[in-house]
Amino acid sequence: MELERVVVHDSVEIIFDPGVLVEALSDLPLPVESPDDPDLGAGDAVVAFGPHPSFLDASWVHCIRAGYDEFPIDRYADAGVVLTNSTGIHGTAIGESVLGYMLTFARGLHTFRDRQRAREWEREPYETLFTLDDERVCVVGLGTLGSGVAERASALGMDVVGVRQSGAAHEHARRVHTPDALGEAVSGARFVVLTLPLTEETEGLVSRATFDAMDDESYLINVARGAIVDTDALVTALDDGVIAGAALDVFEREPLPETSPLWEDDDVIVTPHTSGVSRRYHEDVATLVRTNVRRIRAGEDLTNRVV
Ligand code: NAD
Repeated sequence: MELERVVVHDSVEIIFDPGVLVEALSDLPLPVESPDDPDLGAGDAVVAFGPHPSFLDASWVHCIRAGYDEFPIDRYADAGVVLTNSTGIHGTAIGESVLGYMLTFARGLHTFRDRQRAREWEREPYETLFTLDDERVCVVGLGTLGSGVAERASALGMDVVGVRQSGAAHEHARRVHTPDALGEAVSGARFVVLTLPLTEETEGLVSRATFDAMDDESYLINVARGAIVDTDALVTALDDGVIAGAALDVFEREPLPETSPLWEDDDVIVTPHTSGVSRRYHEDVATLVRTNVRRIRAGEDLTNRVV
């Protein structure tokens, strides 16, 4: 591949200003630009948040997200366009966000914040507050995100179990199940954390059967993709007290529609798909792009290659 230019697409604006990435990549030995309506051709690399039909004219597209489920990868393969993603950069931010959700539920912080808004000085019943040590967390998907969660949860003394395709041991999990044993894996866990990609196999994976296998004092935390969970089954499980609550960063439809009952539920924390973001996000993306520009020029295989 002969690279002549790197184009930062304006879709990255969802996370950061394109200009900060152009600046972070200014040490590259080729032009880095962010034109309004780029006329793309062979020789162009595009850095983008989401797909655009014009990208099929470029040589290489780098997605600034780990999840590339919105990209038509078959069309990229047919057109000979290389696609890379940003897996590997979100472990710290997601790990800390998930710890934050778990601590919030354990210590009742979401409830106290709601009461603060109403200037209400009111304690929670004694038996509702708990600590994380010795509580079990089941991490479904033990890649970058899952490892970031498992490492931090075990540092707090939590009992970490996991689910991964291979079922192979993980250094921060006491026990690892294969996906066919999801029900067994989630039973007895105070928190079930979803950190796996959205694929044909994982769409709707978390269903009424999963909620039935969970404890009525347990919480679902989804920082992966909304469509991995059957949303109607989740709403019903929350309404019926089958599970205690949920922290949701991702949704089948984003932004979450105003009419969604999830907004109203006191035991649900809604965050706008930001659990993986920090102010150094553009620098982490720049490191991945810089590495692959060097590899392309050296004729080496690309890192994080999807197609
Ligand atoms: P990764 O590739 O490092 O890890 C994914 C892991 O999930 C892999 O180990 C894979 O083997 C495993 N997996 C796949 N199918 C599985 C299944 N059926 N059961 C159990 N495990 C399975 O990817 P990552 O960087 O950890 O990201 C994972 C996903 O999280 C992404 O695809 C993306 O959709 C989502 N994500 C969300 C945010 C956010 O801001 N909320 C940020 C980054 C990633």
